[in-house]
Amino acid sequence: MKEHVYAGIDVGGTFVKIGLVTKDGEVLSKTQIPSQIDQPAKNMLKRAAQTIHDLLKAQKNCKLKGVGIGTAGAVNVDEGILYEAPNMPDWKNEPFGEILSDLLGVPVVLDNDANVAAWGEYAYGAGRGSKYMLMVTLGTGVGGGLVLDGKPFRGAIDAGGEFGHVKLDFNGWVCACGCKGCVEAYVGTRGILRQVREGLKKYPDSLLSKVNPENIMPVDVSMAANEGDALAIEVLRQTGEYLGYSLANVVNLLNIQRVVVGGGVAKAGDWILKPAFDAMKADSMRVPGEIVDLLPAELGNSAGLVGAAWLSAFRSGDL
Ligand SMILES: [Zn+2]
Repeated sequence: MKEHVYAGIDVGGTFVKIGLVTKDGEVLSKTQIPSQIDQPAKNMLKRAAQTIHDLLKAQKNCKLKGVGIGTAGAVNVDEGILYEAPNMPDWKNEPFGEILSDLLGVPVVLDNDANVAAWGEYAYGAGRGSKYMLMVTLGTGVGGGLVLDGKPFRGAIDAGGEFGHVKLDFNGWVCACGCKGCVEAYVGTRGILRQVREGLKKYPDSLLSKVNPENIMPVDVSMAANEGDALAIEVLRQTGEYLGYSLANVVNLLNIQRVVVGGGVAKAGDWILKPAFDAMKADSMRVPGEIVDLLPAELGNSAGLVGAAWLSAFRSGDL
């Protein structure tokens, strides 16, 4: 008998990652193709469908049951439409789901990239065993994805889960979204670098004073912390505290069991995660605060692909 497999597709501004995944989360094969965002979206979907055909042909005894797509941008999950994405400006109101379903003859489900990464970690990564989970992705932006009662949670019009825009300070730093005091304004890349710039006044001899302030990246801060630099350690500790304090809002509101932290900035590891854990515990109410845990993400940049495939299996009732 043929084994059922799901294709996961992770659409980014430069590459589209594509893989075949079993319902147990095993990646049978994967590859990537260029996104070619200057071409119509339909061309990318045709090349993706052909790639899935090729991957299936190379596997013996596999039957494609469904496809999940994660993409940057705002989406309509039920209709499978990508409304728009800042890093793919020519693609607007693209019916990804319908086009790909016509090409492959199986159900296709679409979701945004932060969500599919969360579903991947929930099903096959650091979220395993929890039913109430928040995934936080730390990078230039701060993404979020929520699983409640074992199900993906997106809110009324698929716009929920935006942990990056939970409010931290009524009169705080201005966020990329235009509002004041969002957690992203403090723990996103720009926020970390702002903390470094302000901290250099107090620590003029920091290793970070030797890096060109135009080119400084969070990885420079992690490396300096690893060398014992007081400013770098202080900035990462403060970043972790901001994160943990913001997480306490989610713990108190939703009684989540598990927080999974991924994204490039999370590579700073315990320099951020330990103070985040401690602040989250200290600032949550006692009962929900006692059970909540915080773990680093496990799946790296495969999370979106396997999460998209998991969503397809979940939707088909195969789990
Ligand atoms: Zn914001």
